[in-house]
Amino acid sequence: MRIADIQQRLQALGAKPVHLQRVLRHWTHALPHSRNKRQPEHWLPKAVLDDLPALDADLTGLARLVSRHPAEDGSERLLLALADGQTVEAVLLQPGRTPGLCVSSQVGCAVGCQFCMTGVGGLLRQLGSAEIVAQVALARQLRPVAKVVFMGMGEPAHNLDNVLEAIQLLGTVGQIGHKNLVFSTVGDPRAFSALAGLSKGEVRPALALSLHTSDAALRERLLPRAPRLTPDELVDQADAYARATGYPVQYQWTLLDGVNDSDDELAGIERLLAGRFGVLNLIPWNTVDGMPFQRPSWERAAAMARHLHRRGILTKLRHSAGQDVEGGCGQLRARAAADGTA
Ligand code: SF4
Repeated sequence: MRIADIQQRLQALGAKPVHLQRVLRHWTHALPHSRNKRQPEHWLPKAVLDDLPALDADLTGLARLVSRHPAEDGSERLLLALADGQTVEAVLLQPGRTPGLCVSSQVGCAVGCQFCMTGVGGLLRQLGSAEIVAQVALARQLRPVAKVVFMGMGEPAHNLDNVLEAIQLLGTVGQIGHKNLVFSTVGDPRAFSALAGLSKGEVRPALALSLHTSDAALRERLLPRAPRLTPDELVDQADAYARATGYPVQYQWTLLDGVNDSDDELAGIERLLAGRFGVLNLIPWNTVDGMPFQRPSWERAAAMARHLHRRGILTKLRHSAGQDVEGGCGQLRARAAADGTA
């Protein structure tokens, strides 16, 4: 289901734009409907009011909580079932000043990153924009959400219309600050041009770019079905968008022991990111049984971050959220499928 389908349904019942806003605001904020007839939500056309219970049931059915997996770091992985029985993951991020949620944009993913469980099974289907927003509505029943990152299952650039539609809704009636909506991509010309084409009057999200290496040939091996843009081209495109919006790019670098944590890579990062408007997130990989990679030591990762800092590259060393509970993207879904619980 797309957000446009909800709007058409309500318009067919006589809803005006102000009524649409009211209903969508209730949904995105997970507000229960009041029985108090003096409340503004009751200032709706009768046909819309009569349809609200059925609409609520449909919206609730878009994403249902299957299981919760709290981690020691305060994050919490959620396994969610969609209306057709497919499952996706969302993550309540570590508590902080801006409580965040990581959402999925696809069931599966076609990029096939060699270190990602989601990529193993390929793409199963796209999520509709309403299914993306439904993850936020559900999470807000559990915790406040003031930041949404599109870093869960799927490549947002491969589901561009739905992701951008969800972003427009979340950044308006969903009341999430625009720089707190983070469009994450492996780098796709269609995504760069769609983002660059957003006007100042529209919601322009921040950008995260999954770089992972400065070596073009290695990147082709690690991300076999990502568009063939070199790291230099990717950084040029991302940097141009960051300067247009005023939000720094978040460069994501999943650290794999002996693969992309060498001194050559450090030199490559310096070459790529010196003078760029962005921050580099070094994220030691979460071990996944059966995958041919190792997690680097925290000491090595910390030494890399210190080295880059000294050379003026703003670098953060991050844990992947919830690494003690099947923390790699796609692991919960894979485990549940293997156990027959989803
Ligand atoms: Fe897809 Fe992201 Fe996994 Fe790569 S890391 S396969 S882009 S979900």
